[in-house]
Amino acid sequence: MTNQTIRHDGLDAVREQVAAAEKAAGRPAGSVRLIAVSKTFDADGIRPVIAAGQRVFGENRVQEALAKWPALKAETPDIELHLIGPLQSNKARDAVALFDAIHTIDRDKIARAIAAEIARAGRSPRLLVQVNTGAEPQKAGVLPEDTDAFVERCRSVHGLAIDGLMCIPPVEEAPAPHFALLAKIAARLGLASLSMGMSADFETAIAFGATDVRVGSAIFGTRPPIAT
Ligand SMILES: *Cc1c(COP(=O)(O)O)cnc(C)c1O
Repeated sequence: MTNQTIRHDGLDAVREQVAAAEKAAGRPAGSVRLIAVSKTFDADGIRPVIAAGQRVFGENRVQEALAKWPALKAETPDIELHLIGPLQSNKARDAVALFDAIHTIDRDKIARAIAAEIARAGRSPRLLVQVNTGAEPQKAGVLPEDTDAFVERCRSVHGLAIDGLMCIPPVEEAPAPHFALLAKIAARLGLASLSMGMSADFETAIAFGATDVRVGSAIFGTRPPIAT
């Protein structure tokens, strides 16, 4: 992975920006996990990024991920796959089997289904709770004021080890206050991971303590407008 010889313009540029942002924030090199968001791109679009050394990928739909990642993982076994999109409880089995991290735990029904599946499968992805920092009605996630109680219920009622928080700031707002809010909630809950920052704002997110940045178009190029 470190002996990268095959170049990929998008990936290489983002890696350099992540390294520069870590340095500017006074954070150790390599402290931010770069998740390459490959949604809408098929295996032929993803393979060059794998060839350039990237191993951590994100998808927002369970069905789409199931259609392309088992084959890609067979080719490259040390892939780490993250679910960053909404999860239905009837997909909990597939999600726990396929993903190494799930960023979108946001209600009791999902927490319960994931807990049952972890117990059944004997396999536990890293789990993050999605927070709707902008309190947008159409957006998934628990409200900021409900986050402490929800994380506590995940732990005590469902027995889930919650590792961190995730947010997607409102598109029309400056992201920094949302990143600051997420970091503040995580700090008071003693949560280590902060999944925040996308192509347009991952450097800002790193300045606010992001441990996981989710970067799609800056690596892969513009997605077809239809299936986001
Ligand atoms: C698509 C997506 C991303 C990546 O978005 P870009 O702007 O292409 O970097 C990040 N997070 C989530 C939840 C997404 O759905």
